Amino acid sequence: MEKEKLAIFGGVPVRKSRLSYGHQWIDDEDIESVTKVLRGDYLTCGPTTEALEKKICEVTGAKYAVAVCNGTAALHCACIAAGLGEGDEVITTPLTFAASANCAVYVGATPVFADVNPRTYNIDPDSIEAHITDKTKAVVAVDFTGQAVEHDRIREICDRHGLTLIIDAAHAIGTKYKGQSEGTLGDMTCFSFHPVKTVTSGEGGAITTNDPELYKKLYLASHHGITHNEAEYKGGEPEGPWVYEMQTLGYNYRITDFQAALLISQLNKLDKFSKRRWEIVEKYNKAFEEIPEIIVQQEIPESETTRHLYILRLDLDKLSCTRREFFDAMREEGIQCQVHYVPVYYFPFYAERGYKKGLCPVAEDIYKGIMSIPLYPLLTDEDVDDVITAVKKIVAWYRK
Ligand SMILES: *Cc1c(COP(=O)(O)O)cnc(C)c1O
Repeated sequence: MEKEKLAIFGGVPVRKSRLSYGHQWIDDEDIESVTKVLRGDYLTCGPTTEALEKKICEVTGAKYAVAVCNGTAALHCACIAAGLGEGDEVITTPLTFAASANCAVYVGATPVFADVNPRTYNIDPDSIEAHITDKTKAVVAVDFTGQAVEHDRIREICDRHGLTLIIDAAHAIGTKYKGQSEGTLGDMTCFSFHPVKTVTSGEGGAITTNDPELYKKLYLASHHGITHNEAEYKGGEPEGPWVYEMQTLGYNYRITDFQAALLISQLNKLDKFSKRRWEIVEKYNKAFEEIPEIIVQQEIPESETTRHLYILRLDLDKLSCTRREFFDAMREEGIQCQVHYVPVYYFPFYAERGYKKGLCPVAEDIYKGIMSIPLYPLLTDEDVDDVITAVKKIVAWYRK
């Protein structure tokens, strides 16, 4: 590779306009479906929310779905439905968005961090097992970047120890494991529909389950603990058309009907989005497998992945720059990256509660060299080529 002067040192940038690491795709169909609901009778609690829940069941194959206002609320509801509380421990990964651990804290439980697999970056089943105590009640397993976790092994560990398995599939709508869709592989599966995720409703989330008892608890947790289902009334107030019952302490975590309309329209394009995302991943993999300074994330053969993020991992021993210098150089070439994620227990909230650096050495080592490069269906082949060109240019400059 020829050494070409980097934009950050006054060279010519690879692109003039800057690419971000993620971007939603909203088309006229999406906009029409939203305006139709806005012109109708129900802005919330209406038929479009019901239609969305049905659609999520269709897409995932789950028996029940509860749509909520965001993915964090989905995780909170799952922890409530699992009956987690004070004194309970919940095992999760540090290589995730903080909400995967925070949900345990919301209900008074304690997150415990298990380490990740050095090749896939997903939670390591052996490390889950090593962290189980008599206080452990649940596992929150995150399908990092969209790749399915090792479901068979994690399921077996949870069954053997009587743990509730919550899947944080915020990255993984559309992903399959041995042909089975995310949404049916845990006791409960949580999704997020934030704009950087594969499909969006602006803000939005959902929990799926096949268990009717968990479904009831999830519904109550997200709807003020109130039921309108007469068959389930426990008695109290005499009968009348105004009667409903508050049975548990729940929250208002509802999604609106116009968001539901947007999400239904987006879910109609899920296959198209997934396919384009994977095409881009393959282009990146092919280019980066040839560069010794780049470590390519590995996939387990069981996962048919809808990829949410592309992790560019630098082998910093082979480069004369820091991750920060590489990141800044990418930005000046016109490629805005992001880092997914700072290990959750590095944050002051956790550090102040006694979590120490060194807990998960593999995750910490991965964190040191990673940044997420642009991955979304709107990218053109030329955009993808620009990203590859920028990476090659910067690697050539800093190659030892
Ligand atoms: C986005 C995300 C969440 C939270 O979802 P919100 O909809 O933003 O609340 C939870 N877990 C992971 C892994 C995420 O990426």
